[in-house]
Amino acid sequence: MAERPTRQQAEEAVRTLIRWAGDDPSREGLRDTPARVTRAYEEFFAGYGQDPAEILKRTFSEVEGYDEMIVMSDIRFESHCEHHMVPIIGKAHVGYLPDKRVVGISKLARLVEVYARRLQVQEKMTVQIADTLQEILQPRGVAVVIEAAHQCMTTRGVHKPGVGLVTSRMVGAFRDDPSTRREFLAVLGRTGAGGLPNT
Ligand SMILES: [Zn+2]
Repeated sequence: MAERPTRQQAEEAVRTLIRWAGDDPSREGLRDTPARVTRAYEEFFAGYGQDPAEILKRTFSEVEGYDEMIVMSDIRFESHCEHHMVPIIGKAHVGYLPDKRVVGISKLARLVEVYARRLQVQEKMTVQIADTLQEILQPRGVAVVIEAAHQCMTTRGVHKPGVGLVTSRMVGAFRDDPSTRREFLAVLGRTGAGGLPNT
């Protein structure tokens, strides 16, 4: 990975972009903008400094033989598309079929967050969440469905409001067993998952 620029260099880059947009970075309303933008970037892209394996490390192995599907639906996230660096806003639905071990439910949301807070392509993010969960937790299968609106499509270029993209990744039992996959999708249907957030 390339060496990280200093905060000062990052702020200077924002000033350049303001000039590129056609405005004057020294006018009063914009004077503190570079500092605000760099701070916002620290938040938007905090996922680079976080290790998903670390988040999933604490597991619970005594679940009284619970071996049914665990689904967390409607995990809202904000990400940024790596092509235009504008927001992707959506919801992730994550399910897995445990094999001896389970993780705290909040960990699934944090896993989504770690990958969302990076420059992303929705397809890639879907695969990263599913494959990381499979690799670390080693359940009998993982299912991830993501639905999101891409502001690069709604606010620029083709200007198509309300256009949403749905991606999914099925691993293990969710891929091999149609009844498991159906059960997962039925759970999403019952919880009313689906339908894009208003953006
Ligand atoms: Zn884009």
